[in-house]
Amino acid sequence: MPQAQVLDGKAIAAEIIERIGQQISSKPDQTPPGLAVVLVGDNPASQVYVRNKQRACTRAGLHSELIRLAADSTQAELLATIDQLNARDDIHGILVQLPLPDQMDEHQVTERIAAHKDVDGFHPHNIGRLLLRRPALRPCTPKGVMTLLQRTGIALPGRDAVIVGQSNIVGRPMMLELLLAGCTPTLCHSKTQQLAEKVRAADIVVAAVGIPRFIPGDWVKAGAVVIDVGINRLPDGSLCGDVDYATACQSAAWITPVPGGVGPMTVASLLQNTVQAAQ
Ligand code: NDP
Repeated sequence: MPQAQVLDGKAIAAEIIERIGQQISSKPDQTPPGLAVVLVGDNPASQVYVRNKQRACTRAGLHSELIRLAADSTQAELLATIDQLNARDDIHGILVQLPLPDQMDEHQVTERIAAHKDVDGFHPHNIGRLLLRRPALRPCTPKGVMTLLQRTGIALPGRDAVIVGQSNIVGRPMMLELLLAGCTPTLCHSKTQQLAEKVRAADIVVAAVGIPRFIPGDWVKAGAVVIDVGINRLPDGSLCGDVDYATACQSAAWITPVPGGVGPMTVASLLQNTVQAAQ
Protein backbone atom coordinates (compact mmCIF):
# COMPACT_ATOMS: atom_id res chain seq x y z
CA MET A 1 0.00 0.00 0.00
CA PRO A 2 1.45 3.39 -0.93
CA GLN A 3 2.07 5.61 2.02
CA ALA A 4 1.82 8.98 0.27
CA GLN A 5 -1.38 10.99 0.13
CA VAL A 6 -2.28 11.92 -3.41
CA LEU A 7 -2.62 15.61 -4.27
CA ASP A 8 -5.54 15.40 -6.67
CA GLY A 9 -4.88 18.29 -9.04
CA LYS A 10 -7.79 17.34 -11.25
CA ALA A 11 -10.31 17.67 -8.41
CA ILE A 12 -8.74 20.84 -6.96
CA ALA A 13 -8.63 22.48 -10.41
CA ALA A 14 -12.29 21.54 -10.99
CA GLU A 15 -13.23 23.23 -7.69
CA ILE A 16 -11.34 26.41 -8.65
CA ILE A 17 -12.97 26.51 -12.09
CA GLU A 18 -16.41 25.98 -10.57
CA ARG A 19 -15.84 28.82 -8.11
CA ILE A 20 -14.79 31.13 -10.95
CA GLY A 21 -17.95 30.10 -12.82
CA GLN A 22 -20.09 31.04 -9.81
CA GLN A 23 -18.38 34.44 -9.53
CA ILE A 24 -18.98 35.18 -13.21
CA SER A 25 -22.59 34.01 -13.25
CA SER A 26 -23.35 36.10 -10.15
CA LYS A 27 -22.55 39.25 -12.20
CA PRO A 28 -24.60 38.78 -15.39
CA ASP A 29 -24.43 42.51 -16.24
CA GLN A 30 -20.65 42.56 -16.44
CA THR A 31 -18.62 41.71 -19.54
CA PRO A 32 -17.10 38.30 -18.86
CA PRO A 33 -13.31 38.04 -18.69
CA GLY A 34 -11.98 37.40 -22.20
CA LEU A 35 -9.02 35.19 -23.11
CA ALA A 36 -7.41 35.07 -26.56
CA VAL A 37 -5.27 32.04 -27.34
CA VAL A 38 -2.94 32.26 -30.32
CA LEU A 39 -1.85 28.96 -31.81
CA VAL A 40 0.79 28.96 -34.54
CA GLY A 41 1.06 25.78 -36.62
CA ASP A 42 -0.35 22.38 -35.78
CA ASN A 43 1.82 20.83 -33.08
CA PRO A 44 -0.39 17.99 -31.76
CA ALA A 45 0.51 18.49 -28.07
CA SER A 46 -0.15 22.24 -28.35
CA GLN A 47 -3.55 21.55 -29.89
CA VAL A 48 -4.47 19.35 -26.91
CA TYR A 49 -3.30 22.01 -24.41
CA VAL A 50 -5.21 24.76 -26.22
CA ARG A 51 -8.37 22.65 -26.35
CA ASN A 52 -8.16 21.97 -22.59
CA LYS A 53 -7.75 25.68 -21.86
CA GLN A 54 -10.71 26.61 -24.05
CA ARG A 55 -12.93 23.93 -22.52
CA ALA A 56 -12.15 25.21 -19.04
CA CYS A 57 -13.01 28.77 -20.13
CA THR A 58 -16.35 27.62 -21.50
CA ARG A 59 -17.10 25.71 -18.31
CA ALA A 60 -16.42 28.79 -16.17
CA GLY A 61 -18.30 31.22 -18.44
CA LEU A 62 -15.24 33.13 -19.67
CA HIS A 63 -15.19 34.43 -23.21
CA SER A 64 -12.45 32.63 -25.14
CA GLU A 65 -11.18 33.01 -28.68
CA LEU A 66 -8.74 30.88 -30.62
CA ILE A 67 -6.66 32.63 -33.26
CA ARG A 68 -4.87 30.19 -35.54
CA LEU A 69 -1.88 31.16 -37.64
CA ALA A 70 -0.26 28.91 -40.24
CA ALA A 71 3.03 27.22 -39.36
CA ASP A 72 4.82 29.32 -42.00
CA SER A 73 3.49 32.65 -40.68
CA THR A 74 6.06 35.38 -40.18
CA GLN A 75 7.13 36.98 -36.93
CA ALA A 76 5.62 40.26 -38.21
CA GLU A 77 2.22 38.61 -38.69
CA LEU A 78 2.27 37.21 -35.17
CA LEU A 79 3.32 40.56 -33.68
CA ALA A 80 0.53 42.31 -35.61
CA THR A 81 -1.98 39.80 -34.18
CA ILE A 82 -0.74 40.53 -30.66
CA ASP A 83 -0.97 44.29 -31.27
CA GLN A 84 -4.62 43.91 -32.29
CA LEU A 85 -5.41 41.86 -29.19
CA ASN A 86 -3.55 44.32 -26.96
CA ALA A 87 -5.85 47.06 -28.27
CA ARG A 88 -9.15 45.21 -27.68
CA ASP A 89 -11.20 46.07 -24.59
CA ASP A 90 -13.06 42.74 -24.56
CA ILE A 91 -9.83 40.73 -24.40
CA HIS A 92 -8.24 40.80 -20.95
CA GLY A 93 -5.78 37.95 -21.32
CA ILE A 94 -3.53 36.92 -24.24
CA LEU A 95 -1.69 33.65 -24.45
CA VAL A 96 0.60 32.58 -27.28
CA GLN A 97 0.93 28.81 -27.09
CA LEU A 98 4.57 27.67 -27.01
CA PRO A 99 6.65 26.29 -28.64
CA LEU A 100 6.69 28.55 -31.68
CA PRO A 101 8.05 27.54 -35.10
CA ASP A 102 11.80 28.05 -35.59
CA GLN A 103 11.47 31.23 -37.66
CA MET A 104 9.92 33.03 -34.68
CA ASP A 105 11.59 34.71 -31.72
CA GLU A 106 9.80 33.62 -28.55
CA HIS A 107 11.28 36.39 -26.39
CA GLN A 108 10.17 39.18 -28.71
CA VAL A 109 6.68 37.65 -28.81
CA THR A 110 6.45 37.39 -25.02
CA GLU A 111 7.57 40.98 -24.59
CA ARG A 112 5.06 42.26 -27.16
CA ILE A 113 2.06 41.13 -25.09
CA ALA A 114 0.89 43.99 -22.85
CA ALA A 115 2.13 43.07 -19.36
CA HIS A 116 -1.36 43.55 -17.86
CA LYS A 117 -2.76 41.00 -20.37
CA ASP A 118 0.11 38.51 -19.96
CA VAL A 119 -1.92 35.75 -18.31
CA ASP A 120 0.91 33.23 -18.80
CA GLY A 121 3.03 35.45 -16.54
CA PHE A 122 6.11 35.17 -18.78
CA HIS A 123 6.63 38.87 -19.55
CA PRO A 124 9.80 40.31 -17.95
CA HIS A 125 7.57 42.76 -16.06
CA ASN A 126 5.65 39.94 -14.39
CA ILE A 127 8.77 37.84 -13.71
CA GLY A 128 10.43 40.95 -12.29
CA ARG A 129 7.45 41.66 -10.05
CA LEU A 130 7.67 38.12 -8.66
CA LEU A 131 11.42 38.51 -8.11
CA LEU A 132 10.83 41.78 -6.23
CA ARG A 133 8.18 40.18 -3.98
CA ARG A 134 5.34 42.15 -5.56
CA PRO A 135 3.70 39.47 -7.72
CA ALA A 136 1.24 40.63 -10.37
CA LEU A 137 0.30 38.00 -13.00
CA ARG A 138 2.15 34.88 -11.87
CA PRO A 139 3.37 32.11 -14.20
CA CYS A 140 0.62 29.50 -14.33
CA THR A 141 2.42 26.23 -13.62
CA PRO A 142 4.38 27.44 -10.56
CA LYS A 143 1.25 29.21 -9.33
CA GLY A 144 -0.67 25.95 -9.63
CA VAL A 145 2.09 24.14 -7.74
CA MET A 146 1.84 26.68 -4.91
CA THR A 147 -1.92 26.10 -4.72
CA LEU A 148 -1.25 22.36 -4.40
CA LEU A 149 1.37 22.93 -1.70
CA GLN A 150 -1.07 25.10 0.25
CA ARG A 151 -3.63 22.28 0.05
CA THR A 152 -1.29 19.96 1.97
CA GLY A 153 -1.70 22.22 5.01
CA ILE A 154 2.04 21.99 5.62
CA ALA A 155 3.67 25.23 6.82
CA LEU A 156 6.04 26.28 4.05
CA PRO A 157 8.37 28.78 5.79
CA GLY A 158 11.76 27.24 6.55
CA ARG A 159 11.33 24.19 4.30
CA ASP A 160 14.18 23.09 2.06
CA ALA A 161 12.90 22.84 -1.51
CA VAL A 162 14.72 21.34 -4.49
CA ILE A 163 13.57 22.13 -8.01
CA VAL A 164 14.99 20.01 -10.80
CA GLY A 165 14.85 21.88 -14.11
CA GLN A 166 15.55 25.57 -14.64
CA SER A 167 13.33 26.54 -17.59
CA ASN A 168 12.02 30.09 -17.83
CA ILE A 169 8.42 28.86 -17.66
CA VAL A 170 8.64 26.34 -14.81
CA GLY A 171 11.89 25.97 -12.82
CA ARG A 172 13.00 29.59 -12.48
CA PRO A 173 9.63 31.13 -11.50
CA MET A 174 9.07 28.08 -9.26
CA MET A 175 12.20 29.04 -7.36
CA LEU A 176 10.88 32.60 -6.93
CA GLU A 177 7.48 31.37 -5.71
CA LEU A 178 9.06 29.07 -3.14
CA LEU A 179 11.40 31.82 -1.97
CA LEU A 180 8.43 34.16 -1.58
CA ALA A 181 6.68 31.49 0.49
CA GLY A 182 9.64 31.39 2.92
CA CYS A 183 11.25 28.17 1.67
CA THR A 184 14.96 27.81 0.94
CA PRO A 185 14.98 26.75 -2.72
CA THR A 186 17.82 25.04 -4.57
CA LEU A 187 17.47 25.18 -8.35
CA CYS A 188 19.10 22.19 -10.07
CA HIS A 189 19.83 21.59 -13.75
CA SER A 190 21.89 19.41 -16.05
CA LYS A 191 25.23 20.70 -14.70
CA THR A 192 24.28 20.19 -11.04
CA GLN A 193 26.65 17.95 -9.06
CA GLN A 194 25.43 15.37 -6.54
CA LEU A 195 21.82 15.77 -7.58
CA ALA A 196 20.68 12.67 -5.70
CA GLU A 197 22.08 14.03 -2.41
CA LYS A 198 20.38 17.36 -2.93
CA VAL A 199 17.02 15.73 -3.64
CA ARG A 200 17.46 13.41 -0.64
CA ALA A 201 17.81 16.44 1.65
CA ALA A 202 14.66 18.17 0.39
CA ASP A 203 11.36 18.60 2.23
CA ILE A 204 9.76 19.61 -1.09
CA VAL A 205 10.81 18.26 -4.49
CA VAL A 206 9.55 19.82 -7.72
CA ALA A 207 10.52 17.85 -10.81
CA ALA A 208 10.43 19.66 -14.18
CA VAL A 209 12.96 17.84 -16.30
CA GLY A 210 11.03 16.20 -19.13
CA ILE A 211 12.65 12.75 -18.73
CA PRO A 212 10.35 9.83 -17.83
CA ARG A 213 10.81 8.64 -14.22
CA PHE A 214 14.11 10.52 -13.95
CA ILE A 215 13.87 10.76 -10.14
CA PRO A 216 13.82 7.32 -8.50
CA GLY A 217 11.86 6.77 -5.32
CA ASP A 218 14.97 6.17 -3.23
CA TRP A 219 15.98 9.82 -3.78
CA VAL A 220 12.85 10.94 -1.92
CA LYS A 221 13.22 11.75 1.79
CA ALA A 222 10.69 10.17 4.14
CA GLY A 223 7.80 12.60 4.57
CA ALA A 224 8.70 14.83 1.63
CA VAL A 225 6.18 16.52 -0.67
CA VAL A 226 6.77 15.49 -4.28
CA ILE A 227 5.38 17.64 -7.07
CA ASP A 228 5.83 16.15 -10.52
CA VAL A 229 5.49 18.72 -13.29
CA GLY A 230 6.78 16.43 -16.04
CA ILE A 231 4.45 15.16 -18.74
CA ASN A 232 6.16 12.51 -20.83
CA ARG A 233 4.60 10.30 -23.47
CA LEU A 234 5.82 6.70 -23.40
CA PRO A 235 6.14 4.52 -26.53
CA ASP A 236 2.85 2.77 -25.63
CA GLY A 237 1.06 6.13 -25.75
CA SER A 238 0.56 6.45 -21.98
CA LEU A 239 1.76 9.46 -19.94
CA CYS A 240 4.18 9.47 -17.05
CA GLY A 241 5.96 12.05 -14.96
CA ASP A 242 9.59 12.82 -14.14
CA VAL A 243 9.36 10.93 -10.84
CA ASP A 244 9.06 7.18 -10.45
CA TYR A 245 5.61 7.37 -8.89
CA ALA A 246 5.27 3.83 -7.55
CA THR A 247 8.53 3.89 -5.58
CA ALA A 248 8.29 7.58 -4.55
CA CYS A 249 4.89 6.80 -2.96
CA GLN A 250 6.71 4.58 -0.47
CA SER A 251 8.53 7.49 1.16
CA ALA A 252 6.71 10.72 0.24
CA ALA A 253 4.01 12.15 2.50
CA TRP A 254 2.28 13.81 -0.46
CA ILE A 255 2.65 13.26 -4.19
CA THR A 256 1.04 14.47 -7.41
CA PRO A 257 -0.01 11.91 -10.03
CA VAL A 258 0.67 12.26 -13.76
CA PRO A 259 -1.72 12.82 -15.40
CA GLY A 260 -4.15 14.56 -13.05
CA GLY A 261 -1.69 16.51 -10.89
CA VAL A 262 -0.01 19.72 -11.99
CA GLY A 263 -1.42 19.76 -15.55
CA PRO A 264 -5.03 20.67 -14.59
CA MET A 265 -3.71 23.18 -12.02
CA THR A 266 -1.88 25.05 -14.78
CA VAL A 267 -5.21 25.51 -16.58
CA ALA A 268 -6.98 26.59 -13.37
CA SER A 269 -4.22 29.16 -12.71
CA LEU A 270 -4.66 30.50 -16.24
CA LEU A 271 -8.35 31.13 -15.57
CA GLN A 272 -7.54 32.78 -12.23
CA ASN A 273 -5.03 35.03 -14.02
CA THR A 274 -7.58 35.95 -16.70
CA VAL A 275 -10.13 36.92 -14.03
CA GLN A 276 -7.40 38.92 -12.25
CA ALA A 277 -6.40 40.64 -15.52
CA ALA A 278 -10.05 41.59 -16.16
CA GLN A 279 -10.29 43.19 -12.72
P1 NDP B 1 12.83 22.24 -20.49
O1 NDP B 1 13.20 21.19 -21.47
O2 NDP B 1 12.76 23.66 -20.92
O3 NDP B 1 13.82 22.16 -19.26
C1 NDP B 1 14.26 20.95 -18.74
C2 NDP B 1 15.19 21.22 -17.60
O4 NDP B 1 15.65 19.98 -17.10
C3 NDP B 1 16.42 22.05 -17.99
O5 NDP B 1 16.63 23.07 -17.08
C4 NDP B 1 17.56 21.03 -17.93
O6 NDP B 1 18.79 21.57 -17.50
C5 NDP B 1 17.04 20.06 -16.88
N1 NDP B 1 17.67 18.77 -17.04
C6 NDP B 1 17.78 18.02 -18.16
N2 NDP B 1 18.49 16.90 -17.91
C7 NDP B 1 18.84 16.96 -16.61
C8 NDP B 1 19.63 16.11 -15.78
N3 NDP B 1 20.17 14.99 -16.24
N4 NDP B 1 19.80 16.48 -14.50
C9 NDP B 1 19.25 17.60 -14.02
N5 NDP B 1 18.51 18.47 -14.77
C10 NDP B 1 18.33 18.14 -16.06
O7 NDP B 1 11.48 21.74 -19.87
P2 NDP B 1 10.17 22.49 -19.26
O8 NDP B 1 10.50 23.15 -17.98
O9 NDP B 1 9.49 23.26 -20.32
O10 NDP B 1 9.28 21.19 -18.97
C11 NDP B 1 9.69 20.17 -18.10
C12 NDP B 1 8.64 19.08 -18.07
O11 NDP B 1 7.44 19.63 -17.57
C13 NDP B 1 8.26 18.51 -19.44
O12 NDP B 1 7.93 17.14 -19.27
C14 NDP B 1 7.03 19.29 -19.83
O13 NDP B 1 6.20 18.57 -20.71
C15 NDP B 1 6.38 19.47 -18.49
N6 NDP B 1 5.52 20.65 -18.38
C16 NDP B 1 4.33 20.45 -17.73
C17 NDP B 1 3.49 21.51 -17.50
C18 NDP B 1 2.23 21.26 -16.76
O14 NDP B 1 1.33 22.06 -16.80
N7 NDP B 1 2.16 20.16 -15.99
C19 NDP B 1 3.79 22.87 -17.99
C20 NDP B 1 5.10 22.97 -18.61
C21 NDP B 1 5.91 21.89 -18.79
P3 NDP B 1 19.66 22.62 -18.39
O15 NDP B 1 18.93 23.92 -18.29
O16 NDP B 1 20.97 22.64 -17.72
O17 NDP B 1 19.67 22.07 -19.79
